[in-house]
Amino acid sequence: MRDDKINAMTRRRKARTTKAPARAGRAAFPAKSGDWAYRLVEAVPSLICLCHKGLVTYLNETGCRWFGLKSAKMAIGRPFAEFMHKDDRRAVAARMNGRAVPGEPFPVRLARGKSKIFHAEMTLTRFNRADRGALLVQAFDTTGQRKSDAAQENARDKLQRRLSSEAMARRRVEDDLSLAAQVISNLGEGVIILDQRRRVRSVNPAFTRITGFTAKDVVGRLAPFEHAREKGKAVARKKANRKAASKTASHIANKEGGEAKLGPTIWATTERDGRWEGEYWNKTKNGDDYAERLSLSTVIDDRGRILQYAAVISDITKRKEDEERILYQANYDTLTKLPNRSLFLDRLNRALATAARARSKVGLMFIDLDGFKLVNDTLGHDIGDLLLRETSERLGHCVRVSDTVARLGGDEFTVLMPNLDDPSHAPLVAQRILDSLSKAFHLNGHESFVSASIGITVFPEDATDANELLKNADSAMYRAKELGKGNYQFFTEELNRELTERLTIKNGLAKAISGRELSLYYQPKLDLKGGAITGVEALMRWNSKELGVVSPARFIPVLEESGLMVEVGAWAIETACRQQRAWQNAGLPPVRVAVNLSTRQLRDPSFVAVVERALEESGIGPDGLEIEITENLLMSEAGTAIATLRKLHDRGIHVTLDDFGTGYSSLSHLRRYPIDTIKIDGSFVSDIATNPDDAEIIHTIINMGKTLNRTVVAEGVESAAQTSLLREYGCDEIQGYYLCKPLPAAALTEFLRERTRPPKAGQ
Ligand code: C2E
Ligand code: CA
Ligand code: CA
Repeated sequence: MRDDKINAMTRRRKARTTKAPARAGRAAFPAKSGDWAYRLVEAVPSLICLCHKGLVTYLNETGCRWFGLKSAKMAIGRPFAEFMHKDDRRAVAARMNGRAVPGEPFPVRLARGKSKIFHAEMTLTRFNRADRGALLVQAFDTTGQRKSDAAQENARDKLQRRLSSEAMARRRVEDDLSLAAQVISNLGEGVIILDQRRRVRSVNPAFTRITGFTAKDVVGRLAPFEHAREKGKAVARKKANRKAASKTASHIANKEGGEAKLGPTIWATTERDGRWEGEYWNKTKNGDDYAERLSLSTVIDDRGRILQYAAVISDITKRKEDEERILYQANYDTLTKLPNRSLFLDRLNRALATAARARSKVGLMFIDLDGFKLVNDTLGHDIGDLLLRETSERLGHCVRVSDTVARLGGDEFTVLMPNLDDPSHAPLVAQRILDSLSKAFHLNGHESFVSASIGITVFPEDATDANELLKNADSAMYRAKELGKGNYQFFTEELNRELTERLTIKNGLAKAISGRELSLYYQPKLDLKGGAITGVEALMRWNSKELGVVSPARFIPVLEESGLMVEVGAWAIETACRQQRAWQNAGLPPVRVAVNLSTRQLRDPSFVAVVERALEESGIGPDGLEIEITENLLMSEAGTAIATLRKLHDRGIHVTLDDFGTGYSSLSHLRRYPIDTIKIDGSFVSDIATNPDDAEIIHTIINMGKTLNRTVVAEGVESAAQTSLLREYGCDEIQGYYLCKPLPAAALTEFLRERTRPPKAGQ
């Protein structure tokens, strides 16, 4: 009874206040667009309440939910102070009566019934100057920041039902429209109204406060949230770390999270469901990052047609940062800023799942410092902490960006290497770590030395689940300790052997290059018709003091991998050209020298220049040089490599396609490439005398090669039987042990002399 009377009174008063609206509030919003403004105020996620002389005249849906009221009616006419915690009532009343500074927030406790209290941040705004008794109250929940989605969903449904009740809506429109518009212009939340074409029509002052964009900046354009990107946790973490400014930590931050433009998702959902709600990181006009919560909904007319869109945004940066900080503390080691065991296991599990799907490998390294206890016991824990921190910094510098370094506790660290394409990468990293940690540590004036023992496991070879893999890495680490510390061990013997050998080769190669342990051998080719030696092929040899003679098949891939191939390849071309010149000078008949090329060389932009220089310095013509490329190289290379090849070919240098038959190219395909000679792979030759299939293949290749006007050479020819078959099929040239093994330059000079010596009289 009493409620109804006050209700009627306040409605009359409200009607009066509408006649003298705050001008700024009106100007910012279109006046005739149904009840959207009212809906918007209802739907914002903060409490909105209008009071007149301390009594509630309006309470939005969120407010009702907070106070546990079934409808706003139950609040209207009651003193607002009743909803405050009893200890805060006087303070709030004083503010309501005094001149509250618009928008200045203060903390307050709200009461729900008798028992429940929750914390909020409140702002009071005297938004209508014409009526000094009218007050806008807004409150943001600071306790239940993460309300359950179910509760929100429920409230939304209720709201939807209420709004669809036509009578309700219509009655409200007249009364509340301009009032609602005023409320909106005073809202703490940013409001964007968009037209049917999704262009901004108007914004409220809070929007400008949050984003820095004024109405002039955005009206007629796409809303700023169109450009928001989903950033994983990267931005937040970067911010959290700004203070710590640890290199390792920001290094980690950069690795997280991909980015995807949110605009399309937001609109797709809004068109389908009528609304979108979510959180993301965006940029202000100044370019600063801030976290935003957006609630976008359609405004439809009676017939369900979209009239416009209403977006409510709030700045949730502080909350996000708090969340991130908590998350950070749960996942990172405070001393070193490295991921802790929990995050590490999480990443390991994820890496294993991805690798299992992609059938790729994952490497895991277990690192234990040798001699840490001594430092800790003799120099104290503070120095020990410094050592651990410095260790984590050094570890960070030894790994790739995609790897994770973590601290499991004490002086135990791990390195996770997802997408380990090649297990031989692991010992390289391990060695780098050993080298890095063996350098002196300068800790507050103390010089200390430690080393590390490292155990390495590889998924899926050594284990298929995370715990097993970690356990095996741990036991491999123990073996490293047993073997005298300061070394690394693989869990499996086989890998241990294979990869150690590869590393020995790698370590030795640098010395081989500087110590002149590399040389070229030469293997001649014979013209089957005229019986002349038409050319020789240069084949690299490494005569290692430690490893003996190492096959190029073993060390060329290592050269490629370590980036030394370009340099060594250039050396081979220069040496081969000089040798060609030496044979010319010795008066021998012209023999062209063929040099094998690797992918890296052909991709190198200065490759043509390297060849030109070799020709010039040795003084031989382009006809004296030939390059051999493999079929696979040709097929896998893009335009630039082919263009380089064409340049050399145009220059008069012979090009041979090596190992033909092992790849997938068809002969007719070859018509397009600058190739003079096809060299049939030795694997086809070895069985031609015994296997009719191989014989037929070779026969076909020879015939087609001739049709294409290419010279055909067979390599790996080891017997007279093979030679006569090849001659019968019309093969042009042969190469192989049958004629001559690859020989050092001096021995080959002798061979050439033998061949060209005129037959003795009487023979
Ligand atoms: P490739 O170009 O196919 O060379 C032919 C290989 O077969 C050589 O092995 C040669 O010694 C061997 N060979 C020759 N005649 C016979 C024979 O009758 N029977 C048998 N079973 N083998 C024969 P090598 O010298 O060990 O070279 C292996 C591979 O290393 C070469 O295969 C080539 O791809 C690569 N290579 C050698 N030198 C260089 C170089 O300077 N640069 C580049 N990029 N690769 C090189
Ligand atoms: Ca070759
Ligand atoms: Ca070959």
